[in-house]
Amino acid sequence: MAPAVWLLGLLAAACATAAQAQIPYAGPLFDAHLHYNDEACVHATPEPACPHPLEDVLARMQRNGVRAIVANSRPNDGTRALAQARAQAQAAGVTVVPFVRLYRDRADYNNWFRDPSIAELVQAELARGTPSGPYRGLGEFHLYDSANANGPVARQLMALAEDTGLAILAHVDDVAIDLLMAHTASKGQSDLSPGRPKADQPPRGAATRAAAERGGGSFRLIWAHTGIGGTPVQRVDELLARYPQLMGELSYRPGLTCDGGQLCPEWRALLLKYPDRFLIGSDTWVNQGWLHYDELMQGYRLWLGGLPADVARRIAWNNGARLFGLTPRTDDPAAPLPRHRQHVAAHPARRAGRTL
Ligand SMILES: [Zn+2]
Repeated sequence: MAPAVWLLGLLAAACATAAQAQIPYAGPLFDAHLHYNDEACVHATPEPACPHPLEDVLARMQRNGVRAIVANSRPNDGTRALAQARAQAQAAGVTVVPFVRLYRDRADYNNWFRDPSIAELVQAELARGTPSGPYRGLGEFHLYDSANANGPVARQLMALAEDTGLAILAHVDDVAIDLLMAHTASKGQSDLSPGRPKADQPPRGAATRAAAERGGGSFRLIWAHTGIGGTPVQRVDELLARYPQLMGELSYRPGLTCDGGQLCPEWRALLLKYPDRFLIGSDTWVNQGWLHYDELMQGYRLWLGGLPADVARRIAWNNGARLFGLTPRTDDPAAPLPRHRQHVAAHPARRAGRTL
C-alpha cells in the first residue's frame, strides 16, 4: 500500500510540473525591441507598396497582448507615426516608448559611430521630441567591429545617454559592452534610478534631474539579443555582475531555447539569477518579422510559462514598465491573469499603488 501511495504522489508531482511548464504565460508583454521601418510602410499607400500600415501593426500587438513597445525605426518617421497615432494606439491598448534611431538609411549602419552628422541628428530629434512625449532612448545601433565602440560619436552618445537619463539599445558583442560602458561617467556602475537612492550614493547630478524631468527612466545599456554571436552564458553572467546598468534583450539569442520551446538549462539558471535584468523583444527588422509576430510572441509565452510566475511577469512586463515609468497592467481586461498567477497581483508594491 505504502509504495503505491508513494508512486501516486510521485506521479502527481511529475504531472503538476509538466502541466505548469506547458501553460503559456498569459499576462501583458513589453516588446522592448521593435522597428517600424520604411519598407513596412508607415505611409497611407495601399498594398502592395504598404504591406503593414499602422492599423495592421497595432492589431498584431493587440492580439498578442503586447501592451507597450520600444519603437525605433529607420528613418525615425515610423516611430513618429506610432507616437502620433495616440488615439489608435490607446484603442489597441499599446503604450509607445520612442527611441531615436541613428540611421537615415542602410549606409549609416557602418558609419554612424564616426559621423558627426549622426550626433546632430540625435540632438535635433531629442530637442524635437515626439507627439507622445520625449524620446526615452537611443538605438538600436550596430557595431559589427567592436573596436568601433571607441569611435568619437559612439563615445559622445554613451556619455550623453547617461548624463540625460536615456536608455541605449545596442546590437554589439561582449567586447563592445566593456568599451561602451567605459565612455559613461559612472563606467556603468551607478544605479541612478529616480526614487531609489542607495545610502552610499553621492548626491545626484544632471542624470537624475534630467530623468526626473522626463517623469522617470534612467540610463541603461540594453544589450540587443544579449550576444547574437553566441557569447557564452558565463561571459553574459560576468558582464551583468560587472555592470548594474546592463540589461539583456532576448530576441534571436542563439541557444536560448531547447526541447519543447522551453529555456535551455543554463539560460533558465541565468534568468532566475537576474530576474530584473532581462527583456523580450520582436526585432521586426525586416517585414518577415511582422508576418511572424504572432509566432514570436507565442514562443515567448511558452518559455515564460515555464518560469516561476513572478519571474515570468518581470521579464515579460515589469522590467520594461519600471524602466520607463509605465503603470502596471494587472487591471487589464485584455490580458487577464490566470488564477494560478494571481498572487503576483497581490505584490505589496502594487497594493500600495506604486508603479512597477
Ligand atoms: Zn533590431
